[in-house]
Amino acid sequence: MPHLVGGHIDAVQQRWQAYRVDGTFDLFVEFTLALNSLAEQLSRLRLPGLVRQCESLENAALALFGDPSTHPLAEQSALALDQRISPLLGAILTAHHAAIDAEKRLNETIISASIGTPEWIRPRTVWMVVELNNRWARGLREQLSFYGFRVVESGWDDELPQREPPFAIIFVPHDEQVSEGQLALIKRARTCCPATQLFYVGVPRELDVMVTLMRAGIDVTVLREEQAANLLSRILDFIQTREQESFKVLVVEDSRVAVAQIQRALSQNNIHCEVITDPSGLLATLEAYRPDLVLMDMYMPHCNGVEATRVLRQLPAYQSLPIVYLSSETDIGLQVEALRLGGDQFLTKPFNPVVLAATLKTTIERHREMRRCSQNDGLTGLLTHTASKARLDSMLAALPPDGKLCVVMLDIDHFKSVNDNYGHPVGDQVIRSLAWLLKGRLRGNDLIGRYGGEEFVLALKDVGPDEAWVVIDRIRGDFAKLPHAHDGGALRASFSAGIASFPEYRGSSELINMADTALLEAKRSGRNRVERADDLSQRKPAAANGREEIVPTLARGFAY
Ligand code: GH3
Ligand code: MG
Ligand code: MG
Ligand code: MG
Repeated sequence: MPHLVGGHIDAVQQRWQAYRVDGTFDLFVEFTLALNSLAEQLSRLRLPGLVRQCESLENAALALFGDPSTHPLAEQSALALDQRISPLLGAILTAHHAAIDAEKRLNETIISASIGTPEWIRPRTVWMVVELNNRWARGLREQLSFYGFRVVESGWDDELPQREPPFAIIFVPHDEQVSEGQLALIKRARTCCPATQLFYVGVPRELDVMVTLMRAGIDVTVLREEQAANLLSRILDFIQTREQESFKVLVVEDSRVAVAQIQRALSQNNIHCEVITDPSGLLATLEAYRPDLVLMDMYMPHCNGVEATRVLRQLPAYQSLPIVYLSSETDIGLQVEALRLGGDQFLTKPFNPVVLAATLKTTIERHREMRRCSQNDGLTGLLTHTASKARLDSMLAALPPDGKLCVVMLDIDHFKSVNDNYGHPVGDQVIRSLAWLLKGRLRGNDLIGRYGGEEFVLALKDVGPDEAWVVIDRIRGDFAKLPHAHDGGALRASFSAGIASFPEYRGSSELINMADTALLEAKRSGRNRVERADDLSQRKPAAANGREEIVPTLARGFAY
């Protein structure tokens, strides 16, 4: 974060000051573009509270957009904006400094953590605001602790803890009424922890109440009837941060003037683009540039945009590629026809640069979200087998020659007997618990995939085999202690794992095969253990580790 927002804040400030001096429409457009980029950046950095504030300012500015004749704005409107800009930028800077401090501390921890100290991943902190002795909350707290979170509790009448902002704050009310006092506390939490996810658990199924809570700053409301387990999985889903992806747009447009305007609008919004002025080069350019979206003019020499779109829709590779028309065509009938023949959206010229950029980005993001849904496993939310392999390939491709990376294959022990003795649903919950534990313990940018039924694949970046062994073995030990509820009580299960590291082994297939060989060795020598591929030749006898083999059996005393 530290290097990432400074420029955007300066741009907003400078452009606003420039507008206050000159008061021209163009400068106002520049200012709204800068605000829009800042909001984008904050959203990429996952600072929901600040994004909301920034977007609300952006909306206020857009409401005053008008045209060249309405500028400069009336002094009163300009002052109203003025009064909102400084507090917003101030709040962003505060969050920015907090992030710099946190990053510094994290680096110090990582540097000072020697191998053998399994604390290189700091437990994430969650605050819970709840009445004393709330049974439901007690269950949730136990689960959060199991999956690697540090829970700090406070009451509704207390002030929030004076500590570094947590990963999430969970508000658990005692009844259905949302009081003014509660809203005030939520608003204070939103202000002091702009980057934190705020959950409100136990909201009644009423739109008004949900809207009120969201206005106060809540990010996620969870219905009263939802289970603690669902909440846990939703919290864990926030950890797997998405890779910071770029936006690539292919512009197909024959007018040089239009091209210049489009390029300007896109580059100001961090959208990369390539332009072709003649659609006959379309297929070759698509193949080479691989854009996320095509922005298509309607009328061009040789063939028109609709014909080009129809051709693309016949090719399997481009069947779902988003295509947005940008044209001066105002005939509604023709616009509808163009959409019917394969376009996703229709925008008209002259265009508003902010709306154009926002449309392209949201269209790309929605398309990515859909793709993500099909790449994630339904039971655990982890990457599927195919998606895991693709992700591992791209992690390896991005690795510098002197980089480090460990691949881990992991398989639950005697899992067949869990299913046989306790039923498939209980087996499913054991798989889900392991997925949660991995998400809770590993870093947001580590690859965690469900490779098969009860098999997982991990890829840990910047980590050598010694460190990886310590971390995975720690997770192994903790998983073996986790009670899994079934009708008659709770059972325990364990997993075995094998580790192979780059650069000892190269290429995704070799890494996976070697990790698999090490996993097999772990199974062969007693299960509930972690083996390294590079250790296999100099193995010690199995018993030396003194770990017990766990055959899933009845254990007492815990239920979700
Ligand atoms: P080992 O310690 O050698 O790994 O023994 P195991 O019993 O775990 O291995 P095996 O491969 O014999 O059994 C795996 C079982 O996992 C068989 C299959 O029915 C079960 N399984 C696979 N996918 C799922 C799933 O999604 N849910 C449930 N409940 N069971 C599954
Ligand atoms: Mg044209
Ligand atoms: Mg298996
Ligand atoms: Mg197994």
